[in-house]
Amino acid sequence: MQLTDSVSTLKGIGAARLAKLTSIGILTIQDLLEYFPRDYIDRSETTPIAELEQGMTVTVRGKFTGEFADLRYSGGVRITKGVFADNSGGMDMVWFNQPYIAKSLKAGCEYVCSGKVTKRVGRMVIENPEYERHNPKDEGDEAAIAALSAGRIVPIYPLTEGISQKLIRPLIRQAIDGAASLIEDFLPVDIIRAHGLMPRAEAVSNLHFPESDAVYLEARRRLVFEELFLMQAALLNLRGFYANAPGHKFKKLDAKIVLDALPFKLTSAQAAVHEEICRDLASGLAMNRLIQGDVGSGKTAVAMLVCAHAANNGFQSALLAPTETLATQHYQGFLEIFGGGLSVALLVGSQKKKEKDAIKARLASGEIDIIIGTHALIQENVTFANLGLTVCDEQHRFGVRQRQAIGDKGRSPHMLVMTATPIPRSLAMVLYGDMDISIINQLPPGRQKIDTHAVPSSYHPRIFKFIREQLHSGSQAYIICPLIDESEKEGMADIRAVNKFAQLLEGEFEGYRLEVMHGRLKPAEKNAVMSSFAAGDAHILLSTTVVEVGVNVPNATVILIENAERFGLSQLHQLRGRVGRSDKKSYCVLITDSKNKITKSRMKAMTSTNDGFELSELDLKLRGPGEFFGTAQHGIPAMRLANMYRDMPILEQTKNAAMSLISDDPDLCDEKNRPLGLRIRSIASGYQKISL
Ligand code: ADP
Ligand code: MG
Repeated sequence: MQLTDSVSTLKGIGAARLAKLTSIGILTIQDLLEYFPRDYIDRSETTPIAELEQGMTVTVRGKFTGEFADLRYSGGVRITKGVFADNSGGMDMVWFNQPYIAKSLKAGCEYVCSGKVTKRVGRMVIENPEYERHNPKDEGDEAAIAALSAGRIVPIYPLTEGISQKLIRPLIRQAIDGAASLIEDFLPVDIIRAHGLMPRAEAVSNLHFPESDAVYLEARRRLVFEELFLMQAALLNLRGFYANAPGHKFKKLDAKIVLDALPFKLTSAQAAVHEEICRDLASGLAMNRLIQGDVGSGKTAVAMLVCAHAANNGFQSALLAPTETLATQHYQGFLEIFGGGLSVALLVGSQKKKEKDAIKARLASGEIDIIIGTHALIQENVTFANLGLTVCDEQHRFGVRQRQAIGDKGRSPHMLVMTATPIPRSLAMVLYGDMDISIINQLPPGRQKIDTHAVPSSYHPRIFKFIREQLHSGSQAYIICPLIDESEKEGMADIRAVNKFAQLLEGEFEGYRLEVMHGRLKPAEKNAVMSSFAAGDAHILLSTTVVEVGVNVPNATVILIENAERFGLSQLHQLRGRVGRSDKKSYCVLITDSKNKITKSRMKAMTSTNDGFELSELDLKLRGPGEFFGTAQHGIPAMRLANMYRDMPILEQTKNAAMSLISDDPDLCDEKNRPLGLRIRSIASGYQKISL
């Protein structure tokens, strides 16, 4: 057997099964061997039915009593239910759309069933349990298959319809027996040695059918290391293609002009980050740096200094923002500071063609020093005379590819990205493994803690009264409501949510002007709404989450967030960051009627801390890495084995190992790095396609 053989060479595979395996990407023996279990069941530990509690993942041993029910529901759902009992009590096993199962189960024989316990109408249930005859005798093939699964620790594979655990386990066993020894190590020997890694062949076998707990842990460590190492190396390799190039060497900026123009003194954290950046700019290499700072920490001022630095050295800079609202806000801010000295322009999708063409011409001729814009800047027909710096604001919205697209418009321009959402260090390393990271860990002076309260909707009257008092004292307020039905056509749900809430507000705020913002408004309309709110003409901004990022209206001191349970912690923190942007005391009110445990922990976290880094760590814990990382928002491919939380130490090791590898052999063409180079390049090209 060869690793490249088709799985059709295995015993027990006909055309139908082959098609099913193909549909989940398993074509060769190697694919099958790399189809790792998603979980394991420890069959040696069974739980008496009487001791089951909701939410436990358990194995129970008992017998089917022979009572089977076949229920049909509308929508074509068919449920098969079997009563299962041991000495301590009874429960139900339930299968969806698998009516044939009842026939295959023998009443009165002992079975072990595993799965997660839920409660239905007062009775304990396992849905779609893994089941096995406990002590199969004289059952021919059945017994042989069962014996495979009868080990103490049994792998559970991610499955698709028509392929059962019982089918896939013996296939994997055959593949391991026939070909596992052919699996080669593609990690360089020195790395394997330095980190004491198990040989790959042994690790793969033991990940499927572990010989012991200790061996399993080593097998997993080896494969997690490999997964994280490949990812880190691929990110660095991407950077190598692009940003490690020699860069423009900037002379030191005479920052005084800018610093004098700013209406405040830089915090020491801002100044320190600015210093780091100045060193990058003078180094002769292209900068590739991320600024992480909590909401309101003043990242924009740093961006201004750096753009001025570029202009000072005769280069153009481009500032990329994710929305027109934000681009416009930055444009106005930059105009205020640089209006007299530098030429600042805005390029966004909603401008008239004539206007855009004029700006593009001035960009191409080099007349514009600083251009601020949205995705419109990335388009092909935008050219620069001399682009020396790009700044991406609220970076998590831009993919690696977009960062590169803007970078390609100059010759190795310096790159600065600013993220608004503090993320755990582990996550930052994953997402920005290709960048140097600076942190602004300080808010401007005079900022007060934003008082945060979580209350049920019955508090509406009291909260509205409180908001009226704030307005009366000259402040402004945000009221945020989420979409009603996310499945609705984009924007429509926005309108309905906002309208519904506007009714509730009817009569509550007489004499005050309320502006409404939602996803269906055209960019120019959004800008008009925002300007009116920013200028203080409107007192209340009723909005869906379109104001989530970046919006800066320092006079707003209260934000009410309706249906707070619909938002994740990071998003709540981001929304809360719309207030507390001046030295006035600010408030955040989270309204929720949810009794859900996770919601409760989120509310508790929000009310107990204002620190975005702390919250993001908590978020990662609450949601679990699967969900945290699976979200498109973060834009990274899901990890197959690694768990960012648990495997943090391995992540650090792989980052260091990958850095030394890539700095010794940037193009991975050294003979000993060949097989590794192939893998890394293919992963890197996948990353390039990620766009958010
Ligand atoms: P963010 O980091 O969230 O992008 P901004 O750059 O929008 O934050 O800054 C938030 C507010 O704080 C703005 O009103 C800005 O003018 C103000 N600000 C920034 N730096 C300072 C500082 N050093 N002292 C006082 N106010 C500052
Ligand atoms: Mg910002």
